[in-house]
Amino acid sequence: MSRLIVVSNRVSVPGPRDKATAGGLAVALYSALRKYNGVWFGWSGEIVDSASSQVELQYSDSVTIATTDLSHEDYEEYYNGFANSALWPLFHYRIDLTAYDRRFDKGYFRVNARFAHALAPLLQPEDLVWVHDYHLIACGEELRRMGCEQRMGFFLHIPFPSSQVLMTLPNHRALARALFAYDLIGFQTLPDLRAFQEYVVHEADGELSDDGRLTAFGRTIRASFFPIGIDAEEMAEMATSPEAMRHFSRMQRSMQGRKLVIGVDRLDYTKGLPARLAAFDRLLESYPDNRGNVTLLQIAPSSRPDVRDYVDIREELEAASGKINGHFADFDWVPVRYVNRSYARRSLAGLYRASQAALVTPLRDGMNLVAKEYVAAQDPDDPGVLILSRFAGAARQLEAAILVNPHDMDDVVEGLQRALHLALPERQERWRSLMDNVTSQDVSAWRDSFVETLRSVPAGKKLA
Ligand code: UDP
Repeated sequence: MSRLIVVSNRVSVPGPRDKATAGGLAVALYSALRKYNGVWFGWSGEIVDSASSQVELQYSDSVTIATTDLSHEDYEEYYNGFANSALWPLFHYRIDLTAYDRRFDKGYFRVNARFAHALAPLLQPEDLVWVHDYHLIACGEELRRMGCEQRMGFFLHIPFPSSQVLMTLPNHRALARALFAYDLIGFQTLPDLRAFQEYVVHEADGELSDDGRLTAFGRTIRASFFPIGIDAEEMAEMATSPEAMRHFSRMQRSMQGRKLVIGVDRLDYTKGLPARLAAFDRLLESYPDNRGNVTLLQIAPSSRPDVRDYVDIREELEAASGKINGHFADFDWVPVRYVNRSYARRSLAGLYRASQAALVTPLRDGMNLVAKEYVAAQDPDDPGVLILSRFAGAARQLEAAILVNPHDMDDVVEGLQRALHLALPERQERWRSLMDNVTSQDVSAWRDSFVETLRSVPAGKKLA
């Protein structure tokens, strides 16, 4: 059986006992690596004065963990620069926040090439190579240049933008060409796949065949969509674990019979947090029955604190929550509990279960796992209601949620008001349909379907 080689920016090895501290994705990938005696390759998380292609190897179960360091320059140009200040905002349709700099561009391709050079000596001819996400688009191309002919797949965890948006990036063609070094490209949703196909056909003189093959830049590849899931069973179990129940009870005590709406997001401008707070403000304004009776708990741990836009959003949120509380709070009730720290998923599970509704309203999101976790953590007899942005990839599957347009504040307000008053039979019916989806299309199904598709595509060929 061929080995699986996973390549991602960060390598996350789940601890032996507490799977809850690692994400569902890390656990799913790791279990596949164990099954296939695989290698997980990526950045060590260390920033050193001068980086090389040197690799540190560790062995855990039957998995080889291979990591390499970044230099300060790499971190600035590749990670903070091109990946997180150009690709991340652009692929989420925030052209206004996209900071393009030729220095970043060079750093990105340099680090991708260095990763490839560090990885290549570890590869065996029959390996399946699976590269993850926007940090490493160009890794496969460098492997091909070095003569690697293994089957290689790439999965994009974030959205793929429309051609007109992508083309604002000066080096869009180099990125598209790099993608054609893979044999299989996976996207989260059908609209992402369509956007890519359209770019290839209309902007790269490519061809789309009836059976879905794409030809451009002298290579023919497969592209499809594979919506990522969570470990639903584990999340459902975690929601009744002692730690979750402690959080659940503490929360219920502090709510004293009032309703709780939860939001859990990395502090990121794609998550629509200022608009969400503004909608909650309007709910209290327009529907006064909620004053004193409903609280929004917004958990928003900081991320990417080295990027200026992330500092700005934090300040904006602090001001917005302070303003709502200043306006509406009473001596025994605050409308918004804004928490700028992270919680273990086991604790989140209890908080999800204690909430009558979840507001998941990103302006754009590749998938959004919080939406799925919220569903999986509910009590089947008394489930909460999910209010979900139409622009999250998850909305393509979770059609039984209350779907809203986060750009239309009144739509969010109406959706939330409706959620807070939904009768039990309708809550149960919606939840059952959501839970069926979250369970059947879980993270193992996603992983197996990508790996099996990659295994079935014709073996990799050199670049044209
Ligand atoms: N998360 C967490 N603790 C927190 C906040 C979030 O463990 O305090 C986890 C959350 O449970 C989910 C992930 O972070 O598994 C966020 O994934 P999602 O797809 O929703 O958004 P992303 O951050 O990847 O854009």
